[in-house]
Amino acid sequence: MRAVVFAAQGQQTVAERPEPAPGPREVVIETAAVGICGTDTHVLDGEFEGTVFPLVPGHEATGTVVALGPGADGGRSALAVGDHVAVNPSSTCGECDLCLTGRQNLCRDWDGMGVVTADGAAQQRFTAPVANVFRLRPDTDVFEAALIEPLACAIHGWDVLPRRMGDHVLVYGSGTMGLLMAQLAPRAGAASVTVIDVNPDRLVTAGEVGITRRYTSADDADHTEWDVVIDCTGNIAAIQDGLPRVKAGGVFQHFGVAPADATARYSPFRIYRDEVSVVGTMAVLNSFGRAVVMFEAGAINARPMISHSFTLEDYGEALRMFRTGEGRKLQVRPNEATSQALLD
Ligand SMILES: [Zn+2]
Ligand SMILES: [Zn+2]
Repeated sequence: MRAVVFAAQGQQTVAERPEPAPGPREVVIETAAVGICGTDTHVLDGEFEGTVFPLVPGHEATGTVVALGPGADGGRSALAVGDHVAVNPSSTCGECDLCLTGRQNLCRDWDGMGVVTADGAAQQRFTAPVANVFRLRPDTDVFEAALIEPLACAIHGWDVLPRRMGDHVLVYGSGTMGLLMAQLAPRAGAASVTVIDVNPDRLVTAGEVGITRRYTSADDADHTEWDVVIDCTGNIAAIQDGLPRVKAGGVFQHFGVAPADATARYSPFRIYRDEVSVVGTMAVLNSFGRAVVMFEAGAINARPMISHSFTLEDYGEALRMFRTGEGRKLQVRPNEATSQALLD
């Protein structure tokens, strides 16, 4: 079977690999779709903490169970061959101070499939521990469901965001994460949600998923201040534009990943005087199962968010498109014969 392999920093190939065999409490999954995100480019560029090459990338995955290891058919999941599943890529040590105090997403030995040491899903079949595998309903679109992993990150983002019913919410960035946070906002009690993106083309997607307030500058919006401002860009200019727009008593959230060495300017006086809170959010914490529930409840308008699918052989082209900002969510579909544009 074939797999995308990051052989070393900056070196991506497609290679023949042995068929995976499931260990105890593991399943083999035939890959349906794998979303591509900024993490994949950081991993290939050697910018992700702890990555060990060679590594098969792919952490936003869905597929079909094709084999069960010993003991994998019992317990909570009761998985069976033929089940459609979404896979939580995270595993944690379970032993460090953070794991033992309920903050596994901050584990010092955090491992992510396709990100750190465990191989990911950009291959025809892959193994995963039962604990990481979540069954989908048969009528759930198994390709669109690859958005469940980023949705689990968005749900954790809302989990750690102090808020009240009736808040007005401002989101910077109309990419996948911004659109997921914005679509969850009404579910989290928001009275209104506004999306800002400097690129008007990206705002088209916001419109298609149902966001009516969308602007290339927050100066054009119908509010001047917001209870909650969420940065989903990691862009310093966006962060410095957004923080002053938080209403007194409100919250600013860093969801986007800024460069590790970047700094932003803000007014400590303003934070003090107006009791503005600044909160972070990191990956997934007990939110994957709820992401499946919310996805299957229709909380997300997924179809307009995914623009292209790629074969394994075209993985390099997918990364090139991602880096240039072309398209919307890009997916690898390792068992499909052709790459295709999914919209229009
Ligand atoms: Zn991702
Ligand atoms: Zn730990």
